Amino acid sequence: MIFPVLRPAIFSTAALLLASGAGLRAQLPFQFPTANHALYETGGELKFLAPTAPDKPWTTGSFGCVRTDGRQMHEGLDIRCLQRNRHGEPTDPVLATADGTVAYFSTKPSLSNYGKYLVIRHVIDGIEIDSLYAHLSEIQPGLKIGQPVKAGETIGIMGRTSNTGETITKDRAHVHFELNLFVSDNFAGWYKKAMPNERNDHGLWNGLNLNGLDPRDILLAEHNPVSRFSLLNFIRSQTELCRVLVRSTGFPYLKRYPMLVLPNPTAAKEGVAGYEIALNYNGVAFALLPRAASEIKGPAKFQLLSVNEPEEKAHPCRHLVIQRNGRWQLSNNGQRGLELLTN
Ligand SMILES: [Zn+2]
Repeated sequence: MIFPVLRPAIFSTAALLLASGAGLRAQLPFQFPTANHALYETGGELKFLAPTAPDKPWTTGSFGCVRTDGRQMHEGLDIRCLQRNRHGEPTDPVLATADGTVAYFSTKPSLSNYGKYLVIRHVIDGIEIDSLYAHLSEIQPGLKIGQPVKAGETIGIMGRTSNTGETITKDRAHVHFELNLFVSDNFAGWYKKAMPNERNDHGLWNGLNLNGLDPRDILLAEHNPVSRFSLLNFIRSQTELCRVLVRSTGFPYLKRYPMLVLPNPTAAKEGVAGYEIALNYNGVAFALLPRAASEIKGPAKFQLLSVNEPEEKAHPCRHLVIQRNGRWQLSNNGQRGLELLTN
C-alpha cells in the first residue's frame, strides 16, 4: 500500500489511461485493422505503409493523389504485413476497425481489383461510415451479411488477391483499408446509365459508390492528445475543392447524412429548390446548404460556383473540375459524380 501514497498526482487513473495507448485506444472510434501500429512511431511510415515499389516513397501506399506521379488516386491505406507463413505469404489477422455490422463481402477475387474484400458498416458519432478491407486471402469463415462484429474482431486474413494484371508481390503484401461515406441507394440505376457496357457484380457495394476519407488523417487525429476526435468535425473540416449548386432535392445522401446539411432560414421558409454543396478533392460532399428558388440563378442542373485553385493544384488527380479558356467548369467526372450523388 506504500506505492499509491507515494504516487505523484500525475499518475491518476485518468492520466495512466491517457498514457497507456491501450486505454486511450479503447475509447477511440477507429482502431488499426491489423497489429501494425507503426503509424504512431516517429518515422514509422515505411514500417506501416507498403509503397508501390521498394524505390518509391511511403506516400505511394497512402491515401490521395499518390499513384502514377500524382495523376492517379489511391483511396485507402496499404498497411504492411507483419507475419508470414513458410512460403512467405502474409498471415496477419485483419481486424474490424470499430463495432459494426457486416455489410458485404466478395469471395471471388476475379470480380474486383479489391480481390476478396469485405465491408463493415459502422455508426460513429451518429454517422454511418463503411470500412473496407481488400486483397484478403480469406474472409473469416462463418461471417454473414448483417452479422454484428466487435472492434478488433478478426474478419479475415491478409492476402494478395486482386483481379488486376499486375499482381501484388509478396514483398508488398498488405491490406488495403478504406473508410468511406456511402453515396447513393440508387447506385444501380446510375451505373446502368453511366457504364452501360459494364457488369456490376457488387451491387451497392461497388467501390464507385463508396467515397473515401483519408484513414491516415483519421488515425492521426485520434492520436492527438490535445483535442478530442470527432468524426463529424473531421468530415466538416475537409478542405473545399469546389462548390457546386444542384437543382435536386430529396436525394438519399441528405437523409443518410443530415448532420452535413446546414441551416438556411430562407430555404426553410420558401421551400428547398436545390443544394449548394462543398466537395473535397475526392468528391466527398461534406457540407450541403439548402437553397430556395429565389436564391438560385440559371436553369442548369449542376452549376459550378467556385474553385479553390491551390487545392486543385495540390490534389489534381480526380479532375472534378477543369479549366477551359481560362474558365473553370465541371469535368465529365465531376458531372458523373454529381449525377450519382443526386439520383
Ligand atoms: Zn491499396
